[in-house]
Amino acid sequence: KAATFPVTKTLDTFDVAASSIPANTFHHLATLEWIRSRSNLAFIGPPGTGKTHTLIALGHAAATTGMKVKYCTAADLIEQLYRGLADNSVGRTIENLTRNDLLIIDEIGFAPLDNTGTQLLFRLVAAAYERRSLAIASHWPFEQWGHFLPEQTTAVSILDRLLHHATVVVTNGESHRMKDARHHREAT
Ligand code: ADP
Ligand code: MG
Repeated sequence: KAATFPVTKTLDTFDVAASSIPANTFHHLATLEWIRSRSNLAFIGPPGTGKTHTLIALGHAAATTGMKVKYCTAADLIEQLYRGLADNSVGRTIENLTRNDLLIIDEIGFAPLDNTGTQLLFRLVAAAYERRSLAIASHWPFEQWGHFLPEQTTAVSILDRLLHHATVVVTNGESHRMKDARHHREAT
């Protein structure tokens, strides 16, 4: 099944110069070499700074080269794993998710996880560790992940595996959405 994304975003419609992502980092990511070497990617930064755009564009590029890619939000993912608890299929769900070369988990931390959700996220991250690439985005800096992951030891274990082989990109600056809205106002 071809990868599906909530919106269409591509690398060539991303204005790197207008973003806080260093050009060399962007070009390194665009080679997709990090996916071939099973390393991870994390975008950390406030809303509107291009996290989702870049994740989807990279996923799209990877799918174009024949890689298996899946995009989900953390909320979708945790809900899917939770459903597996009811009929004992968590293991199978995780196995299916880690069949992808690249699993994108967007919007981590929008909603707090309970202890069970944290454990489920750990199982997934552990299953993917050094076998598959995870690309994530969150508006929470890592040292504040305790805000949405209540169980500290598990949170540390998740971050440990996620970040062992990873490119971390901290995005900042003015929200591109706000900029768009302002230009629109100025034009009218
Ligand atoms: P985030 O996920 O960080 O909240 P998004 O990636 O959804 O932000 O970006 C918000 C909107 O601004 C999207 O429509 C996105 O395509 C656009 N955008 C953000 N940064 C750039 C950029 N550098 N070049 C082109 N479009 C951008
Ligand atoms: Mg986003």
